[in-house]
Amino acid sequence: MPCKPKLSLKEQAVENQYLEAIFRYLYPNLKTCPKCRKKTKFHKVRKLKIYTCQRCGHSISPLSNTIFHKSSTPLAKWLKAFDLYSKTNGKITIHALKKELGVTQKTAWRVKHKIQKLLSDKDDPLYDFLKGRVI
Ligand SMILES: [Zn+2]
Repeated sequence: MPCKPKLSLKEQAVENQYLEAIFRYLYPNLKTCPKCRKKTKFHKVRKLKIYTCQRCGHSISPLSNTIFHKSSTPLAKWLKAFDLYSKTNGKITIHALKKELGVTQKTAWRVKHKIQKLLSDKDDPLYDFLKGRVI
């Protein structure tokens, strides 16, 4: 299997910012833990895409059930893809997407396919969040 290029510290910081934005968007009023029911704070777990309750350790994975779930493509590339998709009114080719994002043809295809799917699925938890970026 080809080795995935590691993100630089700066890129990782950007990823964390996007993850934080998605977490805050999906859980805007998370002052009480859904598990232990106590007033708490959630902290991101280092190197993982999850947040845990500082009291009971209950973890929340903001990306599960979203189009980013289990994707190894960085969020920055996903969001760039949304912008490109928007700018071309969805007419961006797989080839152009591949070049712009610096990903494989397979990844470019999957990203485009998932963007199309998301834009036709208002039930997706990130529909409004991402649609806002597309317009
Ligand atoms: Zn808790």
